[in-house]
Amino acid sequence: MYSNSLIELDRAHLVHPVASYRGHEKQGVRVLASASGATVTDASGKQLVDGFAGLWCVNAGYGHESIVEAATRQLRELPYATAYFGLGSEPAIRLAAELAERAPGDLNHVYFTLGGSDAVDSTIRFVRYYWIARGQPQRDQFISIEQGYHGSSTVGAGLTALPAFHAGFGVPFDWQHKIPSHYAYRNPVGEDPQAIIAASVAALRAKVEALGPDRVAAFYAEPIQGSGGVLVPPKGWMKAMREVCRELDILFIADEVITGFGRTGPLFACTEDEIVPDFMTTAKGLTSGYVPMGAVFMSDRVYDVIADAAGASAVGHGYTYSAHPVSAAVGLEVLRLYENGLLENGVKAGARLMAGLEALRDHPLVGDVRGRGMLAAVELVVDKQKKTPLPAAAEPARRIFDRAWDNGLVIRAFANGILGYAPPLCCTDADIDAIIERTRRTLDQTLEDPDVR
Ligand code: PMP
Repeated sequence: MYSNSLIELDRAHLVHPVASYRGHEKQGVRVLASASGATVTDASGKQLVDGFAGLWCVNAGYGHESIVEAATRQLRELPYATAYFGLGSEPAIRLAAELAERAPGDLNHVYFTLGGSDAVDSTIRFVRYYWIARGQPQRDQFISIEQGYHGSSTVGAGLTALPAFHAGFGVPFDWQHKIPSHYAYRNPVGEDPQAIIAASVAALRAKVEALGPDRVAAFYAEPIQGSGGVLVPPKGWMKAMREVCRELDILFIADEVITGFGRTGPLFACTEDEIVPDFMTTAKGLTSGYVPMGAVFMSDRVYDVIADAAGASAVGHGYTYSAHPVSAAVGLEVLRLYENGLLENGVKAGARLMAGLEALRDHPLVGDVRGRGMLAAVELVVDKQKKTPLPAAAEPARRIFDRAWDNGLVIRAFANGILGYAPPLCCTDADIDAIIERTRRTLDQTLEDPDVR
C-alpha cells in the first residue's frame, strides 16, 4: 500500500485539473508510480493497461530508453536556449524542419508552444494579426463547434464548448460562436453521412451570414472531436467545411492536438481528410507526453502576410519556453520512433481495437461504437431504441472509471456515459485483448448495478 501521508499531502496542497475539488478531497488521489509499454503501475503495485495513454498523449508508450537518452543528452549539452533575440538551438531548428517536411501542403512554418492550449491561444493571436495586416480589423468573430475542445486558456476556453469550462469563468466571449456538432449518433438529421455534412455546411453558412460575411475571422474544427466524446465526422466532412471556409475567405484551423502523431493512423489526420488548413495545432503525441511541447503549423500564405505586415518590427508573441531544446530533442526522437514501426503498429493495433469494441455491440448497455485508428468510444445507454443515456444522478462516469480501474484498465469515462479509448500505439495484441476483455467485465458489472440502470 502506498502511504496515507501522500494522500493527505495531495488533499491539502495539490489542486487537480478539471476536478471537483471537494469530490477529490473525499475520494483521495491515486498515485501512479511507474510504467512500461502500455502498462502503468500504481504506488501499491497494482498493474493496469493504460487504455488512454495518459491523457491521449503517450502515443509511443512508456519506458523508451532512446527518448530518455535523447532528453538526457540535451540536458547535459544545453538544457535551455531562448529563441528570442534571434537565438536558437539545433534540436528546435531540426524539429521544425522535419515537421514542416511531413505536414500537409504549405504548412511550412512551425511555432513551438508548451502544449495544446497555448497552441490554440497562439492561433487566436495570429489570426487577429493576419486580418489586421490585411486591412480587415473588423474580422474579429470566431466560430467553433458544440462538443468541441480547444483548451483551457483564458480565451481558448471560450472556443471550447464544454459546460464545465464555461460555468463560473465568464466565457465564452461575445465574439466566440458555435455551430452544432456532426455527432452522428444523436444528430437531429439522422445518421446519413451526406445529410450530416450538408447540415454542418448549412449551419456554418448561416452563422457567417448572421454575423456578417465580412466579420468572421476563423473557424476551428478537430478532425475528430475528442473531449466532446470521440465524435467521428463522416468521411468528407472536414473537406466540405474547409471548402466553405475557402469560399467565404475565413481562416480554417485544424486542431490536431489529439489526432496528430499517429492517433488516427497517419502522422496527421488532415492528410487522411485530404485537406490543408491555414493553421494546424498539435501537442501531446509531438513529444509523446514525456516532456511538454506543442506546435502551431502556419501556411506560407498566412506567414507571409504576418511577416510582411510586421516588417522590421517584432511580432510580439512568445514564451520563455518557446522552442525548448530538451522538448525538441525528445520530439525528434519520438518522430524517429513513429517512422520506425510505431505508426505501423498503431494501425494494426487500431484495427484490433475497433474490431474488439465493435463486438461489444451485443452488450445490453452499448448504444454506439465509433472511432478511427487508436481513438475510439463506446457510448452507453439504458435503452438502445430510445438511446436513453445512463442516469446522470448515479454518477456513471465515476462508477465506471472505478470499476475499470479495479479490473486493471484505465479508460476515460465521460460524464454522459461515454467510454473513451486512446491507447499507446505500441500496444501488443495482448494489450488490446486485455482492454476489450476488461471493458466487457466492467460493462457486465455496470449492468448489475441497480443505480445505473
Ligand atoms: N485542443 C484539443 C483538440 C485538445 O484535445 C486539447 C487537450 N485535450 C487541447 C487543445 C489543449 O491541450 P493542452 O491540454 O495540452 O493544453
